Amino acid sequence: MFADGDPRLAQLLDGIVRLAAGELHSRIEVSPARDELDAVIMGTNLLAEDLQIMYQELEQRVELRTQLLREAHLEMQKMAMQDSLTGLANRAALVTSLNEAQSEAADGGLPPAILLLDLDSFKSINDKLGHAAGDQVLAAVGERLRESVRDTDVVARLGGDEFAVLMPATTRARAAGVANRILEALERPVEIQDDTVRCGASIGLRVGEAGQSAEQLLMEADVAMYASKADGRHRLQVFEPGMLHARQLRSQLVEELRTAITESELILFYQPVVELATGRSDGVEALVRWNHPVRGLIMPDEFIPVAEDAGLISELGGWVLRTAVEQLRRWRADGVAGENFSMRINISPADLQRLEFIEDVRDTLQNAGITPSLLVLEITEGAIVAGDELDRYSLNSLRQLGVGLEIDDFGTGYSSISYLRQLPVDKVKVDRSLLTDLGSDPSQPALIAAILQLIRACGLEAVWEGVETAEQAEHLRSIGCISAQGYYFSKPLPAAEMTELLVRQGRE
Ligand code: C2E
Ligand code: CA
Ligand code: CA
Repeated sequence: MFADGDPRLAQLLDGIVRLAAGELHSRIEVSPARDELDAVIMGTNLLAEDLQIMYQELEQRVELRTQLLREAHLEMQKMAMQDSLTGLANRAALVTSLNEAQSEAADGGLPPAILLLDLDSFKSINDKLGHAAGDQVLAAVGERLRESVRDTDVVARLGGDEFAVLMPATTRARAAGVANRILEALERPVEIQDDTVRCGASIGLRVGEAGQSAEQLLMEADVAMYASKADGRHRLQVFEPGMLHARQLRSQLVEELRTAITESELILFYQPVVELATGRSDGVEALVRWNHPVRGLIMPDEFIPVAEDAGLISELGGWVLRTAVEQLRRWRADGVAGENFSMRINISPADLQRLEFIEDVRDTLQNAGITPSLLVLEITEGAIVAGDELDRYSLNSLRQLGVGLEIDDFGTGYSSISYLRQLPVDKVKVDRSLLTDLGSDPSQPALIAAILQLIRACGLEAVWEGVETAEQAEHLRSIGCISAQGYYFSKPLPAAEMTELLVRQGRE
C-alpha cells in the first residue's frame, strides 16, 4: 500500500492522461523507491513504448498505402487520358485540352485549331496483313504525327484509324501548314516486317471560334474531313458552314432512301447486251434507278455510294436480285426471252461480306425456277482486287452454285494478268473509258486488240461496254469481239419498253 498523498500517484495519472492524448513519446519517471507503484509506472512506460512502436509501424504502412494509391491513381488518370496502343492522348484528353485552349482564346489569346484525320487505306492493310501489322502502322502514324507538330500541340488517337491534332493558340495559315506537312509525312511508305505499305490520309481542319464547345469543334472538323474524303484523297479541307448543309442533305437522303427501298420507289431499267455478229440481245443488265417522289428519277451513281455508306446496300441489293430474277422468269414464261437469255446484276463489295447473300441468290433462283448460269453477277475490278478471304470464299461459293461471275469496269486501274488468272470469274466487262478514244486516238485500236487478247489468253469472255457509234461496233466486231453494250444499241429501258424491244427482235 502506498501512503496518502504520494506525489507519484499524481504523476502517474498525469502521465496516463498525456499518453491517452497521443503523446506516445512521454514517459513517467520511476522513483528510486522501486516499490509496487514504481512497478505500475514501469509497466505503463512499457505499454507506452509498445504503443509508440505499433503506431510508428502503422504510420509507415499508411504512408506506403497512400503512396501506392497515389501511383495507381496517376496510372488510371494516364490510362483514361491515353490511347494504350500509340501512347497518344485519347478523346477525353483531347476534349479537356481543347476546352482549355478555347477558354485561353476567350481571355484574349489566339484561337486553337483542330485537325481530324482518317487513314485512307487502313482497312485493306489490316485485312491483307493482319491486325498485328495494322497496329504497327497505327503506331508508326502516331510517331509521324508527333514528329510533325510542336511539343505544345496535342496529338490524339480517337479510335480506329482516326487521329486528331490540337494546336492551341494558332492561325489558320500555320495550321494548314502543319496539315500539309502531315500529309507529306504520311505519304512516305511505312515498313512493317517484310512489307512496305503506304497509307495517305484525308484531313479536315477547323479553327475555333468564340463560344464553341470542344464537341462542336470536333464535329465540324469531322464534317470537313468527310468532305476531304468525298472529294478525292490525300487532301486537306478547311471547314466551311456550307458543308454542314451538305451533311444535312445527305442524312436526309439516307432517311429517304431507307423508305424508298421498302415503299418500292426503286425501279430497274434494262440495257441489252448485244451479240455483235447478229445485233440480237443475248441478255440484259439490270440498272437500278430511284423514282423520287419530288426529285424525279435519280441515277445510281448518286445513291449507291450513299446506300453503301449507310449500310443499306444489302437491302437494296436484295431487292434488285429478286426483282431482276422475277423479270427474267416472266420474260421466259411469256416466251419473250430465249433459252440462253441472261440477266446481269451489279453487286456491291458489301454483298460478298455476307454469307447470307449466297443463300439469297440460291433461294431466289430456285423459287423462280431459273438455271443459275443465266444469272451473271457483275463485280467491279477494284472490289475484287481489294477483297479479303471472305470475299474470295463468297466468290468461290457463288461459282460452285453455278452463277456467272463477271469483272466490271475492267481496265480502270488494277488490271493485272495474275488477277485475271487467279480470280474465279468467267467474264470480263471492259470499262467504257477504254472505248472513248477509239477513232480519235490512233494508238487506241492496238490497245483494244491487246486487251482482248489478254482476256482470251486467260480463258475468259470479253464484253465491251460504252459502245456509242456504228464505227466502234464495227471495229470491235472486225477484231473478233463477241458481245457489247452501249447507247448505240440501246439506252437502259424500263421493263415495258425492254419487253417491246425483245418482242420486236423475236419477230425479225
Ligand atoms: P456500270 O455497272 O458500269 O453500268 C454501266 C453504266 O454506263 C450505266 O449507268 C449505263 O447507263 C451507262 N452506259 C451504258 N451504255 C453507255 C454508253 O454507251 N455510253 C455511256 N456514256 N454510258 C453508258 P448507270 O445506270 O447510271 O449506272 C451507274 C453505275 O451504278 C453502274 O455502273 C453500277 O456500278 C452502279 N449500279 C447500277 N445499278 C446497280 C445496282 O443495282 N446495284 C449496285 N450495287 N450498283 C448498281
Ligand atoms: Ca455493270
Ligand atoms: Ca461497267
